[in-house]
Amino acid sequence: MRHPLACTLLGHRWRFGVDGSDVVWRCVRGCEGGRRAYDDAAEARLMARRLGRGAPGPPLGLLTASSGTAIRKPRGENRS
Ligand SMILES: [Zn+2]
Repeated sequence: MRHPLACTLLGHRWRFGVDGSDVVWRCVRGCEGGRRAYDDAAEARLMARRLGRGAPGPPLGLLTASSGTAIRKPRGENRS
């Protein structure tokens, strides 16, 4: 995935959606998009909602953090 820094600087808005257990996003100007796999569809939906609220600009910090320990939890646990 190309680094979407240009979109951040230009203030482009991003749309977030869910495809199975992946969060998918796309710049509304058509510059860039991407996807990130999550453990399950419920988590993907939660993240898409959370990320969508952060527009404009791709929330790189949040996306980066989510690849670390913050989001990772054992599959099947902590489900509400
Ligand atoms: Zn853009």
